[in-house]
Amino acid sequence: MLHVITYGHPVLRKKAKSIAKMDAKIEKMIGDMVYTMRNNRIKGCGLAAPQVGVSLRIAVVEPSENQLIYLINPEILSKKGSHFDTEGCLSIPGVYGSVERSTEIQYSSLNIHTGKKELFQANGFTARIIQHEMDHLNGVLFTDYIPNLDSLEFIKGERIPPKLLQKYSDQKQ
Ligand SMILES: [Zn+2]
Repeated sequence: MLHVITYGHPVLRKKAKSIAKMDAKIEKMIGDMVYTMRNNRIKGCGLAAPQVGVSLRIAVVEPSENQLIYLINPEILSKKGSHFDTEGCLSIPGVYGSVERSTEIQYSSLNIHTGKKELFQANGFTARIIQHEMDHLNGVLFTDYIPNLDSLEFIKGERIPPKLLQKYSDQKQ
């Protein structure tokens, strides 16, 4: 189980680096990321490498039980449509907000086994998670799209990251 880094840690704001090639070490880390996503205190449907302190362009996405997607040096090639829906993040536990995302995307990623670049298409919820995870690789968090504190929902008992509250109180001044 990897440690999931939370809001306020600088690694979450760094632009992650592409990997040069697939190797055993990276494959092992991806396996650990899948395990962490599934077994985290709040179960996730996506996890990006910067969230476990590794600034590389890698993420895992699991929109449903039988669909595991690896994003390795991913790039969005085209986007269509737009839709608002609620998002959360393992790095901002207990905080939710409505984010506008494209409804359909075309993207490329390296194949985890062959290391070759392949093209994919995704829509709906899957496309949403992929866009969320790819934002992580560029140091962007879903709360960056939320204009004010009142637009966020908080689960009772969860600690709101002080830096997130700070961000909104700074805006008011
Ligand atoms: Zn996230």
